[in-house]
Amino acid sequence: MSECIFCKIIAGEIPSQKVYENEYVYAFRDISPQAPVHILVVPKEHVESVANLSAENSYMVAKCFEAIAEVAKSEGLVEGFRVITNSGKAAGQTVFHLHFHLLGGKIMGESLI
Ligand code: 5GP
Ligand code: ZN
Repeated sequence: MSECIFCKIIAGEIPSQKVYENEYVYAFRDISPQAPVHILVVPKEHVESVANLSAENSYMVAKCFEAIAEVAKSEGLVEGFRVITNSGKAAGQTVFHLHFHLLGGKIMGESLI
Protein backbone atom coordinates (compact mmCIF):
# COMPACT_ATOMS: atom_id res chain seq x y z
CA MET A 1 0.00 0.00 0.00
CA SER A 2 1.21 3.51 -0.82
CA GLU A 3 2.49 5.60 2.08
CA CYS A 4 1.57 8.78 0.20
CA ILE A 5 -1.01 10.89 2.05
CA PHE A 6 -2.61 12.18 -1.14
CA CYS A 7 -2.83 8.69 -2.66
CA LYS A 8 -4.64 7.66 0.53
CA ILE A 9 -6.99 10.65 0.26
CA ILE A 10 -7.73 9.81 -3.39
CA ALA A 11 -8.41 6.18 -2.39
CA GLY A 12 -10.76 7.35 0.39
CA GLU A 13 -8.53 5.84 3.10
CA ILE A 14 -8.08 9.30 4.67
CA PRO A 15 -11.16 11.57 4.77
CA SER A 16 -11.17 14.82 2.82
CA GLN A 17 -13.56 17.59 1.85
CA LYS A 18 -13.89 16.75 -1.83
CA VAL A 19 -14.89 19.57 -4.17
CA TYR A 20 -14.32 17.91 -7.55
CA GLU A 21 -13.42 14.56 -9.07
CA ASN A 22 -13.12 13.05 -12.52
CA GLU A 23 -11.22 10.14 -14.08
CA TYR A 24 -7.86 11.93 -13.80
CA VAL A 25 -8.16 14.51 -11.05
CA TYR A 26 -9.20 14.82 -7.41
CA ALA A 27 -9.68 18.19 -5.67
CA PHE A 28 -10.23 18.81 -1.96
CA ARG A 29 -9.99 21.59 0.63
CA ASP A 30 -6.59 22.16 2.25
CA ILE A 31 -6.55 21.15 5.91
CA SER A 32 -4.72 24.38 6.80
CA PRO A 33 -6.19 27.04 4.50
CA GLN A 34 -4.04 30.05 3.60
CA ALA A 35 -6.94 31.94 1.96
CA PRO A 36 -10.77 31.86 2.22
CA VAL A 37 -10.69 29.41 -0.69
CA HIS A 38 -7.73 27.00 -0.60
CA ILE A 39 -8.19 23.86 -2.64
CA LEU A 40 -5.62 21.24 -3.59
CA VAL A 41 -5.97 19.88 -7.12
CA VAL A 42 -4.07 16.63 -7.61
CA PRO A 43 -3.67 14.07 -10.39
CA LYS A 44 -4.95 10.62 -9.39
CA GLU A 45 -1.77 9.06 -10.73
CA HIS A 46 1.16 9.41 -8.32
CA VAL A 47 3.92 11.73 -9.54
CA GLU A 48 6.20 13.37 -6.97
CA SER A 49 6.42 16.90 -8.30
CA VAL A 50 6.87 19.11 -11.36
CA ALA A 51 10.49 17.90 -11.45
CA ASN A 52 9.21 14.43 -12.33
CA LEU A 53 7.10 15.47 -15.31
CA SER A 54 7.90 14.30 -18.84
CA ALA A 55 6.22 13.99 -22.23
CA GLU A 56 4.69 10.69 -21.01
CA ASN A 57 2.89 12.07 -17.96
CA SER A 58 2.49 15.82 -18.57
CA TYR A 59 -1.09 15.31 -19.80
CA MET A 60 -2.05 15.21 -16.12
CA VAL A 61 -1.06 18.86 -15.75
CA ALA A 62 -3.54 19.84 -18.45
CA LYS A 63 -6.19 17.71 -16.72
CA CYS A 64 -5.45 19.47 -13.42
CA PHE A 65 -5.72 22.92 -14.98
CA GLU A 66 -8.98 22.05 -16.73
CA ALA A 67 -10.29 21.07 -13.29
CA ILE A 68 -8.88 24.26 -11.74
CA ALA A 69 -10.82 26.36 -14.26
CA GLU A 70 -14.04 24.52 -13.39
CA VAL A 71 -13.50 24.63 -9.63
CA ALA A 72 -12.57 28.33 -9.69
CA LYS A 73 -15.92 28.96 -11.40
CA SER A 74 -17.93 26.79 -9.03
CA GLU A 75 -16.22 28.47 -6.03
CA GLY A 76 -17.23 31.87 -7.42
CA LEU A 77 -13.70 33.16 -7.92
CA VAL A 78 -14.76 35.53 -10.69
CA GLU A 79 -12.39 38.32 -9.57
CA GLY A 80 -9.35 36.09 -9.86
CA PHE A 81 -7.37 33.36 -8.17
CA ARG A 82 -3.80 32.15 -7.75
CA VAL A 83 -2.35 28.72 -8.58
CA ILE A 84 0.87 27.61 -6.87
CA THR A 85 2.89 24.42 -6.99
CA ASN A 86 5.98 23.74 -4.89
CA SER A 87 8.58 21.39 -6.33
CA GLY A 88 11.13 20.02 -3.88
CA LYS A 89 11.98 20.63 -0.22
CA ALA A 90 13.74 23.95 -0.86
CA ALA A 91 10.54 25.28 -2.43
CA GLY A 92 8.51 24.24 0.61
CA GLN A 93 6.99 21.04 -0.77
CA THR A 94 5.87 18.87 2.15
CA VAL A 95 3.68 16.30 0.38
CA PHE A 96 5.50 14.59 -2.46
CA HIS A 97 2.52 13.96 -4.72
CA LEU A 98 2.14 16.63 -7.42
CA HIS A 99 -0.52 19.17 -6.44
CA PHE A 100 -1.69 22.63 -7.33
CA HIS A 101 -2.85 25.04 -4.65
CA LEU A 102 -5.90 27.01 -5.84
CA LEU A 103 -6.14 30.14 -3.70
CA GLY A 104 -8.75 32.86 -3.79
CA GLY A 105 -11.43 34.80 -2.02
CA LYS A 106 -9.16 37.66 -0.94
CA ILE A 107 -7.05 40.36 -2.57
CA MET A 108 -3.57 38.89 -2.84
CA GLY A 109 -1.71 41.80 -4.39
CA GLU A 110 1.36 41.51 -6.54
CA SER A 111 3.81 39.90 -4.11
CA LEU A 112 5.05 36.34 -4.55
CA ILE A 113 2.57 34.65 -2.23
P1 5GP B 1 3.01 21.64 -0.06
O1 5GP B 1 3.64 22.29 1.14
O2 5GP B 1 3.55 20.25 -0.30
O3 5GP B 1 3.04 22.49 -1.30
O4 5GP B 1 1.49 21.53 0.27
C1 5GP B 1 0.93 20.48 1.00
C2 5GP B 1 -0.41 20.95 1.49
O5 5GP B 1 -1.15 19.82 1.90
C3 5GP B 1 -0.35 21.90 2.68
O6 5GP B 1 -0.99 23.13 2.33
C4 5GP B 1 -1.09 21.14 3.79
O7 5GP B 1 -1.88 21.99 4.60
C5 5GP B 1 -1.93 20.16 3.01
N1 5GP B 1 -2.19 18.90 3.70
C6 5GP B 1 -1.27 18.09 4.31
N2 5GP B 1 -1.88 17.00 4.82
C7 5GP B 1 -3.20 17.11 4.51
C8 5GP B 1 -4.34 16.28 4.78
O8 5GP B 1 -4.25 15.21 5.38
N3 5GP B 1 -5.54 16.73 4.32
C9 5GP B 1 -5.66 17.91 3.64
N4 5GP B 1 -6.91 18.25 3.23
N5 5GP B 1 -4.62 18.71 3.36
C10 5GP B 1 -3.40 18.31 3.80
ZN1 ZN C 1 0.62 9.84 -4.09
